[in-house]
Amino acid sequence: MNSIQSIRGMHDILPEQSALWHWLESRVSAIFAAYDFQEIRTPIVEKAELFTRAIGQTTDVVEKEMYVFEDRNGDLLSLRPEGTAGVVRSAIQHGLTHPPGLKVWYQGPMFRHERPQKGRQRQFHQFGAEVFGIDQPGVDVELILMVERLWATLGLSDRIRLEINSLGDKADRERYRRQLVEYLEPHRDRLDADSQRRLETNPLRIFDSKHPDTQALMSGAPRLSDALGDQARAHFDAVCRMLDKLGVKYQINTGLVRGLDYYCRTVFEWITNDLGAQGTVCAGGRYDDLVAIQGGKPTPGIGFAMGVERLLALAEEAGVEFSRPPHAFLVSQVSSDDTLALAERLRDELPALRLATAVSGGKFKAQFKRADRSGARFALILGESEMAEGVVQLKDLRAAHADQETLAIAELSKRLAQLIGRNDSD
Ligand code: ATP
Ligand code: MG
Repeated sequence: MNSIQSIRGMHDILPEQSALWHWLESRVSAIFAAYDFQEIRTPIVEKAELFTRAIGQTTDVVEKEMYVFEDRNGDLLSLRPEGTAGVVRSAIQHGLTHPPGLKVWYQGPMFRHERPQKGRQRQFHQFGAEVFGIDQPGVDVELILMVERLWATLGLSDRIRLEINSLGDKADRERYRRQLVEYLEPHRDRLDADSQRRLETNPLRIFDSKHPDTQALMSGAPRLSDALGDQARAHFDAVCRMLDKLGVKYQINTGLVRGLDYYCRTVFEWITNDLGAQGTVCAGGRYDDLVAIQGGKPTPGIGFAMGVERLLALAEEAGVEFSRPPHAFLVSQVSSDDTLALAERLRDELPALRLATAVSGGKFKAQFKRADRSGARFALILGESEMAEGVVQLKDLRAAHADQETLAIAELSKRLAQLIGRNDSD
């Protein structure tokens, strides 16, 4: 019989890859903690209506990409295509939007029925963060600083650049939308089919078109940045001024419109040139109307989401050191219970130790081969004679010359603590 395969565009994260995921997860969660964000976990499945309302009926995500299905009760449900709508729903439902200042982060799988390719999957993962209740530009800047610090921690700052823009307030966008349609209407036949349709439904998204003719036409289009109202303009100027003062490098990209309808004012993307066409690794912005759109009391909000698979691809490209092999491998020729007793003792005495054991037994030589393959730095050798004397041999597997010490079992964890403490902070 044929074996059953996973669904196209939905991938296993295999044991050999999970160290890389943990590397990222531990750094991201430490950064979120450093900025006083708390984690929120919402369901993967929500009512389809939540996303249609929040993201917008005429966006690619809702029109073409969302997984929608009827459950056995006939309710229309969706696998979440993004995290913000669910977080906003939860914040409203549990009264978290007051007092103002809620700061939350989330992580987990998202689902979009797109054509699978490099950097584009049907199940992918995001980290994201949201701040509610504060419309001050300082919040926008602190979020940007947090993400910048993350790139620095990951060693990726040189490979990622920040682009920002302002989408203005609702009235600005409506005014601008009319200007844009007026500009494009006479050139309708030069637009690609998708953009012609968007001219009716969502003309701002035409900026996202990849068609050369459309792009050429758009390069001469009026800019939303010239149509900003006074308040949105002052907000954006303040953001830029603070970024300048704090030494954050950025480019203003007046064509940056973002794919979801709920954004307003500040929007940003972090982009890399090292991953080909799918170069946006993190994106977000303000959504001051979203809480009200979803039925809550008007509450400003701002957030971002980063694509984990793209970030990991970039980290691999950059050659980051993430693997976490065992520190030590216990090679033993005594009974399993004696082997396990020593291993347990070491784990009791030194909880940070990553210790592999050869419980399956076998000859010394075979065990050493496995110790080598495991990537462990040290072998601990427990033979019959060591056992009788209450000692263990400690061998540095990566030293050029045979480097071996004999240690009393009672001293072993202390010595290991010295050895592993040196360059292993996590
Ligand atoms: P793109 O323009 O690449 O389609 P997007 O604007 O649809 O991105 P967002 O909704 O802003 O993406 O999601 C934030 C981040 O999540 C993206 O910048 C990207 O890193 C990641 N992402 C989005 N869709 C996918 C996908 N299908 N596969 C892998 N990562 C994705
Ligand atoms: Mg997309």
